[in-house]
Amino acid sequence: MAHLEMHQFICRSDNYGLLVHDHKSGATASIDAPDAVEIEKQLRKRGWQLTHIFSTHHHGDHVEGNAALKNQFSCVIIGPRAEADRIPGIRTKVSGGEAFTWAGREVKVLACLGHTLGHIAYHIPSEYSVFAGDTLFSLGCGRVFEGTLEQMYHSVTQFKTLSPSTYLYCGHEYTEANARFALSIEPMNRMLQQRASIVATLRREGKMTCPSTIGEELKANPFLRTDSPEIRRNLNMETATDADVFAELRRRKDSFK
Ligand code: ZN
Ligand code: FE
Repeated sequence: MAHLEMHQFICRSDNYGLLVHDHKSGATASIDAPDAVEIEKQLRKRGWQLTHIFSTHHHGDHVEGNAALKNQFSCVIIGPRAEADRIPGIRTKVSGGEAFTWAGREVKVLACLGHTLGHIAYHIPSEYSVFAGDTLFSLGCGRVFEGTLEQMYHSVTQFKTLSPSTYLYCGHEYTEANARFALSIEPMNRMLQQRASIVATLRREGKMTCPSTIGEELKANPFLRTDSPEIRRNLNMETATDADVFAELRRRKDSFK
């Protein structure tokens, strides 16, 4: 089976738009709908018809385009059951642990509580792709708005179980700022240093830094590296639990300038 084509672009200021297209059936999904006008423009450029939206969570910068796109394309909106009342136009409600078939592929739903209380991610194992919304970013993770730090720890940690070759598609281009924080926490990490310099070059050239892979994130993203001796030493938390190290990292990132 030919692979799905991924078309990623930046919209609003730092949101990622992502269109997933199956050449065989013509099925096309937008991962979240941050900006209806821009998504429509990108669809037209490719000659694709939108058939689905996969919503990750209810924040405005992820669902604002739902109504307009549904109006125009009569697309089916799939989203988190737990916050269905806040996902405009939702038709198919899904929860963590469930799976559904899209374009002949299995799509697994991951529960990602923390950023919001119903946040979900979508994993397509056959495509080595995960759509993480605002839960896991490249070199960082989402802010904890509705859930607890403990919930966010579990949400982020489950990405470690995916194959290292899995592409991580996330909701925002935050990588450069995330790299600055990561380097303040684990300055001697060679993989992180290399990644930060690649990211700086890409951004200078106006290019996107994502998707990365889970394997790259395991080597450089501090939120996946709570067992790193250097991080623990720098936090003065050598004997703390991983969840406590994670919570401290998230707290520090909240106030990091
Ligand atoms: Zn959000
Ligand atoms: Fe967001």
